[in-house]
Amino acid sequence: MIMDKTCIVTGASRGIGREIALTLAGEGMNVVINYVGNRDRAEETAVEVEKFGGRALVVKGDVASFKESEELIKSCVDNFGKIDILINNAGITRDALIMRMKEEDWDKVINTNLKGAFNCSRAAVRHMMKQKSGRIINIASVVGISGNSSQTNYAAAKAGIIGLTKALAKEVASRGILVNAIAPGYIETEMTEVLPEEVREKIRKNIPLGWLGQTKDIAEAVKFLSLKASYITGQVIVVDGGMTM
Ligand code: NAP
Repeated sequence: MIMDKTCIVTGASRGIGREIALTLAGEGMNVVINYVGNRDRAEETAVEVEKFGGRALVVKGDVASFKESEELIKSCVDNFGKIDILINNAGITRDALIMRMKEEDWDKVINTNLKGAFNCSRAAVRHMMKQKSGRIINIASVVGISGNSSQTNYAAAKAGIIGLTKALAKEVASRGILVNAIAPGYIETEMTEVLPEEVREKIRKNIPLGWLGQTKDIAEAVKFLSLKASYITGQVIVVDGGMTM
């Protein structure tokens, strides 16, 4: 157990982010739990995190905002003295065929999913450089690799995150900072529960392992990159049950 490490998980009130927060807390880490609207759910995550013995700090902040992202990172450093790991997980979808996609749906998805990762990474890297250590893990998507109809905004943001990951990994490697991405396939969360059962069944048939991914599958990959891997940087690890191989 490493009790003196601190991580920030953006979008940790529910879904994949919540599971990452709990999994890293299980390894003895202090966790900053970011959310944008669901205070109660974020507080619930904090209660669960503290059951593992580490400290939890709940911070409201819209990652699409440069200023609020800076404040999020600052609150971590102010409270815990440092930031060891940043997980850029917060994300949204606003699906539509391109002819019907509103400008605001494009902007909102790009600003949250892509600019959010830039905002938080930029603020965190300053501290990590001084520490000469750190890990940044960006939650991308297989959609950023393969594309998906009705998700031009989301696919562009996730492909952008992959580019950001590689560029930043090269930029900060000499300072002991490792930057990687995880590209989940279909994971059962509130983001995907809106899909009709027949669509889910079709997806399931296209997954060689035969089942829909769980939040734990992503959190375990994050744990590996956060705490075990020491010679991996600039990579995208696909966690999708074999769906896109
Ligand atoms: P989710 O269940 O919808 O949860 C989204 C989380 O992001 C919530 O905690 C939400 O906070 C937070 N959030 C949304 N907008 C935010 C903002 N502007 N600033 C800060 N936090 C914000 O989603 P999920 O399925 O767990 O997805 C998590 C990540 O995995 C996303 O980046 C998503 O694109 C990616 N991903 C998911 C899947 C999948 O199949 N589920 C597949 C590939 C990639 P509130 O609760 O406060 O709204």
